[in-house]
Amino acid sequence: MTELDAACQDLIAAGQILDHQGMGDFTRGHVSIRVPGRPEHFIMKPHSVGLDEITRENIVTFDLDGVLVAGTARQHSERYIHSEIFRARPDVNAVIHAHPAHAIAFSATGQQLRALNQGGAVFAGGLPVFTATMDLIRSPETGRAVAACLGPHKAVLMRGHGVAMAGASVQEAVVLCLMLEEAARIQLLASAAGLDDWAFPPDDVAALRDKLTRHEQYAINFDYLARKARNALR
Ligand SMILES: [Zn+2]
Repeated sequence: MTELDAACQDLIAAGQILDHQGMGDFTRGHVSIRVPGRPEHFIMKPHSVGLDEITRENIVTFDLDGVLVAGTARQHSERYIHSEIFRARPDVNAVIHAHPAHAIAFSATGQQLRALNQGGAVFAGGLPVFTATMDLIRSPETGRAVAACLGPHKAVLMRGHGVAMAGASVQEAVVLCLMLEEAARIQLLASAAGLDDWAFPPDDVAALRDKLTRHEQYAINFDYLARKARNALR
């Protein structure tokens, strides 16, 4: 198997996981992976199919201007979220854009995400919010604005729209996407119940963050979720 074959398999598995975990919004939401050994290109889910319907045949490949370089399926107009994050962040090898309900609801609170659970510990103090528009990101200019708002972080909340995740690997992007949604859900629940301002010491939160953000953890959990999604599709 070539490195490109493996990346395509990972893209298909990532789509199946995201759909199985409720990250789909009709056929919206997309995932991409930088082509191994060819950093100026990335493979991506096509338009008009669900996250769980990516196949080797319908995968599309783009350059960092968002111009199609391979594939015949229809292209997502929001591919500029991906192209501009890949351009701005050489350390990023996978991007996800999705519309998860709790993250969107949380984006409307104006609150900072706090370390109320383990996922919150990963993102606390490092989750910017993009507020320039709730419209689709359909141009290189707006893609650049999202990438600029993301900065050096792993995720950006897009107020009234969704999330964009930037991972060193697709395993990281997928697992963190699910952890962010759960952290947003927990903060919404705690806020509704009456959230106080007590907090664990920053060093304690940082120690947990370090343990949760190791590639081995991402790989174990990605593989587990991939098995679970495949079994559900049978
Ligand atoms: Zn969107």
